[in-house]
Amino acid sequence: MTVRVRFAPSPTGMFHVGGARSALQNWIYAKQQGGVFVLRIEDTDAARNKPEWTEGILSALDWIGISRGSYEGPHFQSENAGEHRAAAARLYESGRAYYCDCTREDVQARTGSQYQGYDGYHRDLGLGPGEGRALRFRTPDEGLTVVVDLIRGEPTFENKLIEDFVIARGDGSPVFLLANVVDDMTMGITHVIRAEEHLPNTPKQQLLWDALGVKPPIWAHVPVVVNEKRQKLSKRRDKVALEAYREEGYLAGAMRNYLMLLGWAPSGDREIVPWSVIEDEFRLEEVNPSPAFFDEKKLRAFNGEYIRALPVPEFIDACQPWLTGTGTIAPPPWQPEEYDADAFAAVAPLAQTRIAVLSEIVPNVDFLFLASPLIDEAAWTKTMKDGSADLLDAAIAAFEALDTWDAESLKSTLEAVGAERGLKLGKTQAPVRVAVTGRTVGLPLFESLEVLGRERTLTRMRAARVRLV
Ligand code: GLU
Repeated sequence: MTVRVRFAPSPTGMFHVGGARSALQNWIYAKQQGGVFVLRIEDTDAARNKPEWTEGILSALDWIGISRGSYEGPHFQSENAGEHRAAAARLYESGRAYYCDCTREDVQARTGSQYQGYDGYHRDLGLGPGEGRALRFRTPDEGLTVVVDLIRGEPTFENKLIEDFVIARGDGSPVFLLANVVDDMTMGITHVIRAEEHLPNTPKQQLLWDALGVKPPIWAHVPVVVNEKRQKLSKRRDKVALEAYREEGYLAGAMRNYLMLLGWAPSGDREIVPWSVIEDEFRLEEVNPSPAFFDEKKLRAFNGEYIRALPVPEFIDACQPWLTGTGTIAPPPWQPEEYDADAFAAVAPLAQTRIAVLSEIVPNVDFLFLASPLIDEAAWTKTMKDGSADLLDAAIAAFEALDTWDAESLKSTLEAVGAERGLKLGKTQAPVRVAVTGRTVGLPLFESLEVLGRERTLTRMRAARVRLV
């Protein structure tokens, strides 16, 4: 039997990191089993679907390494609508489903409770199809539905507790629960690996498989992803869009490594490992069923390590979208013609060790490209104290007198200026840094001044001095 798995997102919003995690798990499982990964876009909720969300899913998958053309699909659920209806009709004809025209109020009035599920009122009333009549599945009165789940063992459900659920609405359209089963059936899916949120649907869906006469798939419900308060990650509260992480400058390699650690870990106390190790060692059966904490701080630290591990030319390439503002990335504060690739290459190794996400490259290097630095006023006020004017005067004079403009000479020169005033280098540097870069923190100062060059450095120091008058 060829293993066939599917990833079946609904294109109703930005692509969720939890979805990316399930996609990767499906992807690896298929690869390990010599199977097929099918992408199915579940686009039957016409009111909430947008084509751009579908495009977002394809490009996000591509980004994390599930590249277009390397899987089956995308198939679209809407293209299978005929099969969904045919299955609903078959279930009705075989007596496994019946029509019902009760409203919620009718059920409430009969059961006396708004919490009680459907009471089976129309089970044996023989109502035929008609406008406004929903089709309900006749669940067995007794017995158990045992779900075989690679992660959760054998969750077991009592059939008598499962209400006769709706499989097609009053307008005849099949509901998600049925469409999803029929698609898996027609696509020959052998393993359904999906988020835990769908576990409550599973006994109902398995009953549908049985009623349609096909052996159900093996299930694997991967743990829900939660925030630091142990709440399920939600798009209203948490940063969940893979795209948002991408735009902030997370590397795809760091992201997919981190996502695979949600509920699982490679051998030997390691967390940061090459993708090939994950592909080798990952075992779906070993995934911990408890909720998985999506720790953004840890992801950030991961990303910093991935950034530092890049060869410098790759780091320079990886920064380009933020330096040039391509794609959906916000443009940098400088004009395209102000950008200087050589200057950037000169400071890139210094920046590489200091940033955790690629977007942080911009505030670190903007002083190099802008005609005058963006002064952080709070930093200015904090730094430019009594004595700063005198210090700048002395530093300007000393720098003007330098024969060679390199980091070492700049450092020893400024050190001497400070020493004459009883100041340590840190204190001496601060006003120069603010004058030249506009900030109190940034790349190593003297290397920065070397790359910026004599004229621009001195012009900025003189301008700051004027401001201090
Ligand atoms: N379309 C469903 C979702 O996005 C997936 C259902 C499934 O994987 O079975 O949650």
